[in-house]
Formats: sequence, C-alpha cells, structure tokens
Amino acid sequence: KPRKKDVTEKSKSVVESKPAVHVPVDRTPEMQASRQKLPIIGEEQVIMETINENAVIIVCGETGSGKTTQVPQFLYEAGYAHGGGIIGVTEPRRVAAISMSKRVAAEMNLTDREVSYQIRYEGNVTPDTHVKFMTDGVLLKEVQQDFLLLKYSTIIVDEAHERSVYTDILIGLLSRIVPLRAKPPVIKVDSRQYPVTIHFNRRTPDDYLTEAYRKTCKIHQQLAEGGILVFVTGQQEVQTLCRKLKKAFPHHKGQVLPNINLNNYSVEPTDEEAEMEQGDNSDARVFDPPPEGCRLCVVATNVAETSLTIPNIRYVVDTGKTKTKFYDKVTGVSTFRITWTSKASANQRAGRAGRVGPGHCYRLYSSAMFNDNFPQFSPPEITRRPVDDLVLQMKDMSIDKVANFPFPTPPDTDQIKAAETLLVSLGALSEPEKPKTFKAKVAKTAPTSKITALGRAMASFPIAPRYARMLAMGHQQELLPYVIAAVAALSVDQLFVEFQAPADAQNEDEDLKRRIQNINNVKRMWAGTGNSLLLGDLMVLLKAVGACEYEGLSPEFCARYGIRSKAMKEVRKLRTQLTNTVNMALPEVNLCVDPKLTPPTDRQAKLLRQIVATGLADHVARLMPDLPPGVEGDSKKHKHAYQCTELEDPVYIHPTSALYHKDKEYVVYQHIHETSRPYMKGVVAVEAEWLPLLAPYHCTFSKPLEDPPPSWDAETGQVKCHRTSTFGRCGWALPAVCV
Ligand code: ADP
Ligand code: MG
Repeated sequence: KPRKKDVTEKSKSVVESKPAVHVPVDRTPEMQASRQKLPIIGEEQVIMETINENAVIIVCGETGSGKTTQVPQFLYEAGYAHGGGIIGVTEPRRVAAISMSKRVAAEMNLTDREVSYQIRYEGNVTPDTHVKFMTDGVLLKEVQQDFLLLKYSTIIVDEAHERSVYTDILIGLLSRIVPLRAKPPVIKVDSRQYPVTIHFNRRTPDDYLTEAYRKTCKIHQQLAEGGILVFVTGQQEVQTLCRKLKKAFPHHKGQVLPNINLNNYSVEPTDEEAEMEQGDNSDARVFDPPPEGCRLCVVATNVAETSLTIPNIRYVVDTGKTKTKFYDKVTGVSTFRITWTSKASANQRAGRAGRVGPGHCYRLYSSAMFNDNFPQFSPPEITRRPVDDLVLQMKDMSIDKVANFPFPTPPDTDQIKAAETLLVSLGALSEPEKPKTFKAKVAKTAPTSKITALGRAMASFPIAPRYARMLAMGHQQELLPYVIAAVAALSVDQLFVEFQAPADAQNEDEDLKRRIQNINNVKRMWAGTGNSLLLGDLMVLLKAVGACEYEGLSPEFCARYGIRSKAMKEVRKLRTQLTNTVNMALPEVNLCVDPKLTPPTDRQAKLLRQIVATGLADHVARLMPDLPPGVEGDSKKHKHAYQCTELEDPVYIHPTSALYHKDKEYVVYQHIHETSRPYMKGVVAVEAEWLPLLAPYHCTFSKPLEDPPPSWDAETGQVKCHRTSTFGRCGWALPAVCV
C-alpha cells in the first residue's frame, strides 16, 4: 500500500534524474534511412525536452507516424535505460507487444535480450532488457508486486485512446503514482497524410458483404495499381469474401487481368486480446510486397484500423460495420451484434488509404447514414463487460472503494455491485458490514467488502475469479491436473471452431455440413456415459485437451476434429503457467508439468462436477416441466427448455453441447450467449442435493428438521441437523441435507 510520501519522492526523483548521457545506437544504413522518413523523427527534440520537463506527456499522431517504434528509441538514446531503469511500453494486444518488440530490436540492431516482450504466458525478458513491450494486463499485475514500478524509468501507455479495460485502470493507477501537478502537455505529430477522397454510396445496401465484393472487383478491374484494404466484421466474413475473390480471380500464370494476392488478416472480437488467425507469420506476409503482376488485397477486421499499418494501400473499402460483444449488465447474457462503427473509426479506416499517396475510400453507406447513425466514438470497453476480475484485482491492491477509483470512465455502479456480489458468493470477499450506528446509516457511505485469504489466493491466478475458485477447490484427490486443464480450457475462448454454413450455400458446402456432423458426433462420443457424460461439455474439453497433447498438438489432428490449434497452444501455455503457480505456492503438491492427460475416472468426473458447481453456483438452470396436456401455451418453447436464475424467458442447451436433449434436471453453465435463441454454453449436469453444500450462499434454509434427529460431530464438537432449502430467485425446493 503506497504512502503518499513515497509517491511524491519517487515521481520527483524520476523527473529530476533526467539522464544527461547520450547512448549511441548502431543502426544499419537502411534502417536509418527508413526511420528518417517517419514524421515523428522531426519531433524528437520537442518530445524529449517535454519528457525531461514533465512527469506525464501525451503524444498524439496518425497511425504509422512512428509513435510506437520511435519514442522508445528516443528515450533509449537519451539515456533513460542507462540509469538502471527499463523503458516499459504497454500494448492492449499481445500480437502488438510481440511484433513491436521485434521491430524495435531490428531497428536498433539489438537482440531480444535487450529489447524484449512479456505477454500473459510468455516472454523473453532478461536482466539485460532495456526496452520491454508488454500487454497492459502484465503491467497491471506488476503494479501489485511493486506499486511504485521502481524497475521502470519510463512507462509508455501505447494506444491509450483505445480505452481497453486494463489500460484504463493503468491510467487511473498511474495518476495516483505520479501526482498530476499540471495538465500534461500534448505533442501532436503531424504526419504526412495524403488526401483521401471519400466516396459515399448513394444508398445504403442491405447486404454489405455482397456490396464489398462487388466494389472490390470493380476497383481491381478498373482502377490503377495500389493495394486494396477491405474492412468487414469477423473471421467468417473474411473467409467468405476471400473465397469469392479467389474464385473470381484465380491465381495462375498467363492471366490477362491483374492477379489478386489475397491476404486475409482478421481477428475475432473475443474477450481475449486480438490475435491473428492465420498463424504466427501472417503479419510478415502482409508487410511483404505482393508478387510481380499482383495486386495486394487485404480483407481485414478492425485490427487494421490502427495498431498495424499495412503498407501500399491506396483503396479502402469500408462496410462501416463492426462486430461488438454486447453484454447485458443485469442478466449477464452476451450477444455479438453487428453495428455501425463510430465516426472516429470510419475516419481511421479512410486514413489507411493515404499513407503512400493520394487515395480513395469507398464507403458502402450513404452520407446521411454516416451523419445520423454513426456515434462519434465507440464506448470504452470497461462499460461493456463484467468487471469481477478487475474488482478482485483492485481489492487485492487494497483499493477497497472501487467506485471511488479515478477511472478515466468509471464502470456502472450496477456492474461493480454485480461483481462484488459474485465475489462475495465465491468467498473471495467478506460480506460488507451493515452500518451499525445511526450516524453511519445517515452518512450513506456504501459498505465496502474486503478481500479474504481465499480471495488473495484466487487473485494470484491469471484467470477469471470463478475459475480461480474452482482451482482453489481442486486441491484434493489428485484432481488438480484436471482442474487446471479444465479452467485453462474454459479460459481460452472458442477452443472449437464455430462453424456456420456460409450464406451462399453451394456444392462445396455439402462437405462442410458433413464435416460439422462428424465433429459433433465425435464430441458426443467423447462425452461417454455415466459421470463422464454428466460432466458434459467440460468432459469434451478435457478429452480434446488430452487427445491434442497425445498427438503433440498436430495441426492435422486439430483440423480433423474442428479444434483451433492456436487456442489449444494457448491452453497448453496457460496450463503450464497455472501448474507452476500452484507448485510455487504449494511446494508439497509438486505437480507434474508434463501436459499429457489421461481422461478422468468416473469417480474423478463426479468430483469435477462438484468443483465446477462451486465456481458456477450463480449459473444454475433447472429443466422446465413439459406443459401438461390441455394447457394453453407454446409447447415447442417448453420442450427441453430450462429456467435460469437471471432470465424470465426460457434458455436452451446448444445443439453442439454434449448434454443437448439429455434433459438433466439441474445444470450449471459457463455463460448464456444469444443467437437465434438464448443458449447456455459450457453445460455440466449437477445434482440437487449438492447445491445446499456447494452453493449455500444462494440457498435459503429451513429451520432444523426433527426427523432425522440432529447429530453431533465428535471431532469438531458441532451439532449438525437436516434442513431443507430453496434455491435462488426462483425458489426451487431442494432436498433435505445435513448442514
Ligand atoms: P504508430 O505507432 O505511430 O502508429 P509505428 O511506430 O507502429 O507507428 O510505425 C511506424 C512505421 O514503421 C510504419 O510506417 C510501419 O509501416 C513501419 N513498421 C512497423 N512495423 C513494421 C514491421 N514489422 N516491418 C516493417 N515495417 C514496419
Ligand atoms: Mg502504434
């Protein structure tokens, strides 16, 4: 916990110890020449003088002007890495942290021992590291160990305008670490932006993807050379569009038309940071010039809007759409919705066409649509997702009054309340004390809950609090390797490819349909019988993890079973990290780090179901009875329908789930995602009599029953008796158990 005094001393010492040395960098002549072209180079002196005189500065400039790659080098040359401190740079995305560290190392002619990166699972930081690129989440974790960030001489918060949740919290924390004595100066870097002519569609078409295809073909066939960058909303659309373009312009020699060199370059908006789907070297392909006689065409999602600059783009085709995950703050139900992007990001997209010369941006929507329906900016992420992990981390940093924290945009009080309730129910926070005195009641200061010992243990794991709770429960019966594998698999988004039959159904799609069917059959087979089946989707995940490790994560194997091999690699890394964390905290456990995993036995599967139930105790659903004959109502809506505690309307088990149409009375689910219906994802069957013991927080207990009579536990000296209970908001009657 910081003392005020230290903070001022530290910030002073940083400001006052501005280094006077010049540290030479031995760049190659080619690198030197390409740097010289960047607009920011002309601002070096101004930027460095401002940094030397201020605790905080803001550097503003167009994408591609050189902020990310050059500012760390300015600092390095000015000696900021030679007083014993590191120059730290945070990025909201892992891919940017890695690729930028590589780029800066190459520009400076240094190795990755000196210019390094650290992301959630891996890094190459050494004692010789001078410049360290990391994800914002990594620095946030470091603040918990070292509130004053003494390791660093400078922190660069890159892409601060993107307002990622962790970046927002970092800014709030930094504002406490470095008292802002005056408004930070803003340096604007003028970039050489060529004019971009904006062409609006006269009318806004219904089908933007077909329109994008049409426009891309037209540009390619009729307009002078120069790369085309098309913005669509997701992986599926990238693939559909690329397939159609490849078909229209097959790539072979002797072709009259100019060939098209397609690069699909996309990212799904997941809860995780953005990642490229095309394997690790796809960014290199985008930076390479296209083959002779070819036109570069990049179909991308909004990852290409800012953080990565693709060279030689002259034409931008902008659908104006973006896919965002919406999350209902009250019910927790998530949906992906395709909406208009903001004016700010549409302008960013257009700007991509003016990097090498005058360019054109084709907006596939009308100017009236743009003016009337596009919001000015996108809302920051912190207002769009649950904040339970953030609240736990902040409580672990002794920031108890989360609502008072200087967030750039504070989350809703409802969001914070929901997070605190969940954390109390998981045992991570103590129940807030009720105001005792009249004075306290009048003062209306919200009672604050404090972190518990269990909560501290949970906060040490880099996973969502409910999964951390499962880990804490798993410390028995040699279950830890399974629990670790399970929570790792649950933490990584979309382990299985989510197939959607393409809208333009054609012959080739018969193959796809057959493949989907095969994969679903395999999943059903993997679920097995007995407790294995009841462990449901989690069993499928465990089997998938085990089988992939057995096959050495072979890409062919993954492809055959519809597993995203990239996600599986992430599961492996997360498992290793969690195993190491457990081994460090509990040396007597001494878990094996070999990722091989045999399927759990029936007894283990049953225990795993109980462990999962503790982490998902607020996500219990109960099968709705069929409508009795003769009763009015939508019987189809009732068939296989479940009632959950958050929603009035019924919810369903997804057809790809192992428990689809199995009609188990009680289930827990990972989350509800609404597509054509509200579907529960990650479903595991639980038993009614477990709930009073595993989820007492959600139960209202009866008075002790007389029959059977109370028993006396000789060991603890406690009297135990049977009670019945009702569960949750719906008041489901649970059987009597001894509590
Ligand atoms: P900013 O942060 O201001 O958006 P950057 O520092 O990321 O700008 O980029 C500056 C220039 O360096 C851009 O012109 C970009 O194309 C180039 N660049 C960045 N990464 C690479 C790379 N891996 N290979 C080649 N050029 C790169
Ligand atoms: Mg940048």
